[in-house]
Amino acid sequence: MTYQYCSMCGASLRTDKNNNLACTQCVFVNYQNPRPTATALVLYNNKLLFTKRAREPFKNWWDLPGGFIDKDETPEECAIRELKEETGLDITIEKLFGIYLGTYPSDFDPFDILSIVYIASCNTDKVGAEDDVSESRWFSKDEIPKNIAFDSNQDVIKDFLKIWN
Ligand SMILES: [Zn+2]
Repeated sequence: MTYQYCSMCGASLRTDKNNNLACTQCVFVNYQNPRPTATALVLYNNKLLFTKRAREPFKNWWDLPGGFIDKDETPEECAIRELKEETGLDITIEKLFGIYLGTYPSDFDPFDILSIVYIASCNTDKVGAEDDVSESRWFSKDEIPKNIAFDSNQDVIKDFLKIWN
C-alpha cells in the first residue's frame, strides 16, 4: 500500500530520483526518514524492566518501555513521560546507551524507527501496567525473555547483555 495523491494539493505522485514519492505539481515530497523513539533500560536491584505489549504490532510480546518522541519533546523527556504513562514509574536518566535503527512493521504503512536508548534508574520496583501495556515485569540477566518486540530492541538487548554484570 502506498500513497497515491499529494497531501498538500491532491495532485498525483511519482517516484523521484531518490525513490521518494514526490508531487507532480507542487513541492511536496514524502520523505521516508526514520521516526525517532526513546527507550529506557530501567534497572532496579540489577533487574531490567520489560513491558508486555497490549496492542499490535507484537501484541503480547515483551518490549522495552518507551515510545515515539512528541513534537517539541527531547528524547530524555520522552523516555521519562513514556515510563510514567506505561508503568507509573518515575525514572532518572543515567546515560545514553546507544542509538538503534529498527523497523515498525505494519501491513498498511511500515516505516523505520530510530531508537534513542538510555540507561535509567528508579527508587522502587512497584510498577503498574497502563496505556498500551498489559503487564510490567522485572527480569534478571538469566531470565531475559526470548520474544522481544522489534528488531531494534533485540539488538539493544544483545549489546546490553555484553556489559550487564
Ligand atoms: Zn502537491
